[in-house]
Amino acid sequence: MHHQNPVFIPGPTNIPDVLRRAVDYPSIDHRSADFVDMFLPVLDGVKRVLKTSTGEALIFPATGTGAWEAAITNTLSPGDRVLAARHGMFSHRWIDLCQRHGLDVQAVEGRWGAGAPVEDFMRILSEDAGQAIKAVLVTHNETATGVRSDVAAMRRALDACGHPALLMVDGVSSIASMDFRMEDWGVDLAITGSQKGFMLPAGLAIVGISQKALAAMEDARCPRGFFDFRDMLAANRTGGFPYTPPVGLIRGLHRSITLLEAEGLEAVFARHFRIAEGVRRAVAAWGLQTCAETPEIASDTVTAIRMPEGVDANRIVALAAEKYATAFGTGLGQVAGKVFRIGHLGLMTDVMALAGIATAEMVMADLGLAVTPGSGTAAAQGYYRATARSAEAPGPGRQAA
Ligand SMILES: *Cc1c(COP(=O)(O)O)cnc(C)c1O
Repeated sequence: MHHQNPVFIPGPTNIPDVLRRAVDYPSIDHRSADFVDMFLPVLDGVKRVLKTSTGEALIFPATGTGAWEAAITNTLSPGDRVLAARHGMFSHRWIDLCQRHGLDVQAVEGRWGAGAPVEDFMRILSEDAGQAIKAVLVTHNETATGVRSDVAAMRRALDACGHPALLMVDGVSSIASMDFRMEDWGVDLAITGSQKGFMLPAGLAIVGISQKALAAMEDARCPRGFFDFRDMLAANRTGGFPYTPPVGLIRGLHRSITLLEAEGLEAVFARHFRIAEGVRRAVAAWGLQTCAETPEIASDTVTAIRMPEGVDANRIVALAAEKYATAFGTGLGQVAGKVFRIGHLGLMTDVMALAGIATAEMVMADLGLAVTPGSGTAAAQGYYRATARSAEAPGPGRQAA
């Protein structure tokens, strides 16, 4: 049976119809002027979304994982030390990728439910008198735990120590959904993909690169081929690609940026906060806890919900899929079986979120949990009713074609 229920996973996200149509495009000659006309405005649009005016934006046919690899291999050399925190599955995977490339990772073991520990980083950086650390890695939004880290505070820590390390930020599940400021925060490499905040199918790795990172690129000795920034930059200069570009996705990205800017980036962030806050109120009404240890670090794109002792969170995800054809996210790594996740980013409205909350309640009641069906829905409804914006404002619930 084919279902059209929205997905409540933190990527890939639901795809607006206008974007599904935009990516459906016949083959064109990618060496033609038509491609150049389509492509160059996309690079400018990505820079606006990342909020950089002095950096470069590059797009590779890959996913967020490819963007991680592109960032480190283009700016670092084997044996270089990088500082990172492991506090969820995505920060863990980035560390693993660095190690596979022969980098010397100084990994701070963090709590799964806390943000990247600024104080620990500050201490380590201030003790690094020889400036052996070449890069600091931050996962802005830990999608596994639903926790936001403070990138601006990491910048301040680096500056306070006068430390020249590059600041690399994984913004895969935050960029285009949560406040992100590449230039203000002094981010040297900003990383994302097409299938989260940009609401497209997977297939594009998107990287923002500061001038400082471009300078580091000249001395970097990690082997790189497909992801070599230099080839991409050279080809992009004339609006071209060093190999066959994924034309449909690039066209989709153009349309996606148009949608985001029509709504307004700040309004997009406010919408994500509001939807997330409704979900958090539902969780509280259920008598459950978020994986995020404190409200101020709670993610606005995904909520990880801790199950009571003895309840296997995977059963919630499995039953939701089987019985109600609805996808929630499972727990990953250290929190596997302990949390389930409600993804609420990209094409998401309060009305859609209510469906997810109500479905989660049905499943938890089916499994005999002490959760009253309707309790979370009512809490979210109350919040959404009190905070609904007045009509007319554009948003994904009322989109122009
Ligand atoms: C989804 C995600 C990734 C991985 O991206 P892929 O596109 O699946 O390769 C990396 N980091 C974070 C924070 C993510 O949410």
